[in-house]
Amino acid sequence: MLDMLVIAPHPDDAELGMGGAIAKFIAQGLKIGVLDLTSGEPTPFGSLEIRDRETAQATQVLQLPWRENLGLPNRSLEATLEARRLLASVFRRARPRILFAPYWVDAHPDHVAATQMIEAARFWSKLSKTDMPGEPFHPERIYYYYCVHLRLVDPPSFVLDISDQWETKERAIRCYQSQFVTGRPADQPTVIDRLKEQAAYWGWSIGTRYGEPFASREPIGLSSLNDLL
Ligand SMILES: [Zn+2]
Repeated sequence: MLDMLVIAPHPDDAELGMGGAIAKFIAQGLKIGVLDLTSGEPTPFGSLEIRDRETAQATQVLQLPWRENLGLPNRSLEATLEARRLLASVFRRARPRILFAPYWVDAHPDHVAATQMIEAARFWSKLSKTDMPGEPFHPERIYYYYCVHLRLVDPPSFVLDISDQWETKERAIRCYQSQFVTGRPADQPTVIDRLKEQAAYWGWSIGTRYGEPFASREPIGLSSLNDLL
């Protein structure tokens, strides 16, 4: 069903961490989905209705063919057995070969819980002789995107060139007005200016205009060096 699934603690994390990669993979013909774990609300300038509308707009900008929300509690996300079961059931239904999870070091407890939950659910998803719905399925790879609430620059395992996708990523992020524009100081640099500077830094690190970093706990296999920048 899906080639790849991005799991996000809150609606906007997928766009922030890897909106460029999502746009790129879709342009390459891959079927990619986003699973938001919570509503992301409450926030100072958002509401459930506003956040839903913003998420729908960003989904349209990215032209995502698949997006769902698992309905877990925002701000008190926990890697419980029940949450693991729910998530593993999505993996068994959507059958993505590759998972994307938040980077494992973060100040936001929801993000840390999400990463733990995703890794555990990936393992549970392959179990046989269980009462979980669907057939056993093991997502082959898991990579980690950076959407980190720390001023932290841990070296990534690879950086993806998103020079041609930055504009789409910025438009998708701008859909979340309640998170990045409303009530924020208009002084330069704005939140979005900072994001662009970070993307430019990662682009610089690989010799392109813009980039997005990713981490992997396991070695990354290559069949050739032809696509390396
Ligand atoms: Zn978040």
